[in-house]
Amino acid sequence: MVSRVIPVDPFDLVVIGGTGDLARRKILPALYRRFCAGQMPEDARIIGASRADMDDAEWRDFVGAALDEFAAAKGCADRGRFLAMLSYVSLDALGDTGWDRLASRLDRDCVRAFYFSVGPGLFGPLAERLQRYGLAEGDARIVVEKPFGHDLASARALNADLARHFQESQIYRIDHYLGKETVQNLMAIRFGNMLFEPLWNSQYVDHIQITVAETVGVDGRGEYYERAGAMRDMVQNHMMQLLCLIAMEPPAQFEPDAVRDEKLKVIRALDPVDARDVVRGQYLADGARPGFKEHVENAESTTESFIALKARVSNWRWAGTPFYLRTGKRLRARTTEIAVVFKDTPHSIFGPEAGQHRNILTIRLQPNEGIDLGVTIKEPGPGGMRLIDVPLDMTFAQALGPEAEDVPDAYERLIMDVIRGNQTLFMRGDEVEAAWAWTDPIIASWEEVGARPLTYDTGSSGPEEALALMHRDGRRWREIRV
Ligand code: NAP
Repeated sequence: MVSRVIPVDPFDLVVIGGTGDLARRKILPALYRRFCAGQMPEDARIIGASRADMDDAEWRDFVGAALDEFAAAKGCADRGRFLAMLSYVSLDALGDTGWDRLASRLDRDCVRAFYFSVGPGLFGPLAERLQRYGLAEGDARIVVEKPFGHDLASARALNADLARHFQESQIYRIDHYLGKETVQNLMAIRFGNMLFEPLWNSQYVDHIQITVAETVGVDGRGEYYERAGAMRDMVQNHMMQLLCLIAMEPPAQFEPDAVRDEKLKVIRALDPVDARDVVRGQYLADGARPGFKEHVENAESTTESFIALKARVSNWRWAGTPFYLRTGKRLRARTTEIAVVFKDTPHSIFGPEAGQHRNILTIRLQPNEGIDLGVTIKEPGPGGMRLIDVPLDMTFAQALGPEAEDVPDAYERLIMDVIRGNQTLFMRGDEVEAAWAWTDPIIASWEEVGARPLTYDTGSSGPEEALALMHRDGRRWREIRV
């Protein structure tokens, strides 16, 4: 298999917040790797911006150190040439210093992207200044990081702020889950094969499980997390996007608005969630490591580090097939997977001793991105017709060999999509609002009564009650394991 790298057109990319953590860990290493892959034209320019007083050479040193730390394994010999593309402008998103200088640097006619790698409170002021200094015209586009709002009202206000200065077609709201190879493969599997789509409905699918489990706690992010919790941090955005891709109807074309229209219909078809179908938890200290309340420095914290819930998509395709979502920190293993659990065969010709067996299609996002289809076969050897489940496993690293090494990570792909002007893997404003409109009443239902999350042990699968959420429907969660 030969990987094809198509260079993008010349561009100027301004990383606002170019001295921050996200820039250092993700954005700049991603750009460097695309450069090494030959996707960046020679005359691409990357401009860092923040309030820090630095010159070009100092920022290049900063970026060089970031590459040492976060891109060493996938580097290339031409690092000097990449660093020569970089320059820096000191500016204040809330003031007027530096903007003229930035405008004078962006004097050529090419794609011009502004990555807002700053806190969300600065998104509106930045959009306003970009327009005021004549930088919003032509081929300009902005990239907006999460969190996009804290609730429906704040997301609407933010959308309105951005819309005053930019068209929707210029706004790229990032959800890095959408940039993952397997997530796109989900669409390829569903809409590129005849095999699955006829079965992809409530007649054949018993239920769907989406799990995003982490082993880390909220160490270092306590202040942010105490305000967000797992529902806002994971469910409203990343898990909602996964649910949409599983549940959506086939779009007429693989084009940004066709795909996003279908995702929006799914979100709007979600039923309100009953409080009894939600379980929240907080991890306990485990001797060596502090518990959630210590991490967020609030002994009275009612924020959840774990959530499990049952969602229902009320449309013809999915009525009667629940979607179980769970995510949490300090769990047994780090894994992200979607499991499509098919129904039992209508009648077992092999008798009760053969047992009941189900096909499960598992889409693994991490680790070992890949797909696994559990099929039922006869247990080999004598002894009658005993059935066992075996996986038809396709780990991409195995299937694609060394090619899999070259698969761009989510940020690499998404930034190149921004430059190419392809919004398919970015959230549209109405999608984000619809997701908040579903999430808000769920959050309100526990905030109104001051509900306290349950507790769970580090290394567990979350509170026992989360298991009961499925048990009472006669189902069970898949084990959280690598
Ligand atoms: P950070 O480390 O605090 O960096 C913030 C950056 O913004 C710094 O470069 C800072 O530099 C700059 N900045 C702050 N105020 C400014 C102003 N008035 N004018 C111009 N620049 C200003 O934050 P981060 O972790 O990189 O996060 C950035 C954004 O990405 C946030 O929205 C965050 O929620 C989101 N995000 C981060 C991660 C992550 O892994 N870090 C993951 C997902 C999403 P100066 O102080 O020198 O101005």
